Amino acid sequence: DLEINPSPLLAVLKDLHSQYKLLGEGAVAKYIPELAKVNPELFSICIVTVDGQVYKVGDYDQLFTIQSISKVFAYGLALEDHGLDYVLTRVGVEPTGDAFNAIVLDEQSKRPYNPMVNAGAIATTSLIKGSGPTERLNRMLDMFRRYIGHDVFVDISVFTSERSTGHRNRAMAHLMLNFGMIDRNIEESLDLYFQQCAVMVNCQDLAVMAATLANKGINPIIKEQAIDKRYIKDILSVMYTCGMYNFAGEWAYKIGIPAKSGICGGIIAVVPNKMGIGVFSPLLDVRGNSVRGVKVCEELSQRLGLHLFDCS
Ligand code: GLN
Repeated sequence: DLEINPSPLLAVLKDLHSQYKLLGEGAVAKYIPELAKVNPELFSICIVTVDGQVYKVGDYDQLFTIQSISKVFAYGLALEDHGLDYVLTRVGVEPTGDAFNAIVLDEQSKRPYNPMVNAGAIATTSLIKGSGPTERLNRMLDMFRRYIGHDVFVDISVFTSERSTGHRNRAMAHLMLNFGMIDRNIEESLDLYFQQCAVMVNCQDLAVMAATLANKGINPIIKEQAIDKRYIKDILSVMYTCGMYNFAGEWAYKIGIPAKSGICGGIIAVVPNKMGIGVFSPLLDVRGNSVRGVKVCEELSQRLGLHLFDCS
C-alpha cells in the first residue's frame, strides 16, 4: 500500500509482522470450547503513543475476547472502589510461579496471591461495587469504555461457553468463600468475571488501553481520565511482577516492561510516559502466553531500547 508518510516505527512493526507470521509454534486455547474456533493465523501488532499516534499492522480490526487482560483493569476499578489498603486484605501482590489457573491461596493469609491469576482476579471482581448484577456489569463496561475510547460489548457465546464449563474457576470461588475471602453471591461474581473476560476488543483497542496506563490514566485518543492516577503505580507494579503468569520473572528480566497476557492470544505492554503496545496472535505456549506476542515484545524491547533498567 502507498505510504505518504513512511514512519520508522511503522517500518519496524511491518518487519516484525512479516518475520514472525512464519512462526507457527504453539496451540490455540481449547479449554473454553468457543475459543477453540479462532483462526490460528490471525496476527496483529499495534503501538499507540502517549500523544495519540497510532501505528498498526496485520489484522488489527479483528475482534477477540480480552480474557485475562481484563484482570488489570478490573483491579484498577476495585482499587478505586475500595482503596489500596482494603483491596490488599483480599488479594495479595506476590507472584505465584504457578499456572494462571492454579487452585492455590496464600497459606497464612488465605488470600489469593495476586490479581493477575484467576483466583486473585475472581476475588478482585467480587469487590466491584454496584447494587446488582446489571449495575456491576455496566460499571465494568463503562470502565472499559474509558480506557478504549468507544462502547464495548460482551461476546455472549464465549461468556456462556465459559460459564457452563468454568468449574475450575467455580472451585476457586468456593475455596475463597470457605475462607471468607469473598463474601458476595459467588455465582454473581463469577458471572461478572466471565463477562469481563468475554469483552470484545481488537489489537488497536489493546494498545490504546496500554497507552492509557502509560499516560497517567488519561486515554490519549479521547483524552478522558480512565482511572485515578494515584493507582497507576500499583497496577503497573503488579503487572510487572505477575502479569505473564509463571513466565513473569523471565519476562521482567528480558523484556523489562509491565505487561499482561490473555488466553485469547492478546498481550498488552506498557512503557510508562511513552507508549502502549498491543499484540494479538492466538497460538499459545504451555504457560498460556502468545508465542508470537512474546517474541514481538522481546524484539521491540531490544530494538527500541524499552527495558526499564536499560542504561546502554
Ligand atoms: N477466562 C479465562 C479463565 O478464567 C481467562 C484465563 C486467561 O486468559 N489466562 O480461565
